[in-house]
Amino acid sequence: MRCPYCGSEDTQVKDSRPAEDYTSIRRRRICPDCGGRFTTFERVQLRELMVLKKTGRKAPFDRNKLVRSFQIALRKRPVDADRIERAVSGIVRRLESSGETEISSEEIGLQVLEALKSSMTWPSSATPPFTATSPMRRISKR
Ligand SMILES: [Zn+2]
Repeated sequence: MRCPYCGSEDTQVKDSRPAEDYTSIRRRRICPDCGGRFTTFERVQLRELMVLKKTGRKAPFDRNKLVRSFQIALRKRPVDADRIERAVSGIVRRLESSGETEISSEEIGLQVLEALKSSMTWPSSATPPFTATSPMRRISKR
């Protein structure tokens, strides 16, 4: 790992320990040339994903954007942040294991919609879905 301060390629790991609930490794590094200290994180990445947008542009897949789109979609229905994390992780795993390195933004949108559909069954303070037995329906039948 190159030193971000002086550019030396010969930095040393002083300490590494699990972080983020054992899903990543945090390494403290030191540069023998300039004495600079910095930290790196190691995470599992099955595959480098690129998002192909409608405009034809490509952008690196951003997990945080996916989390935000869930938060926006569910803003009126407070659900456990853990559920969102798990849904996002599930989508990322599926995208990574799809064999494609480029995923269209539409495909990601569909995956989000699917997850949002199943989110109706997530335990939360959700309002019950509109059903045929709801008062409005009964009134209209009279
Ligand atoms: Zn250095």
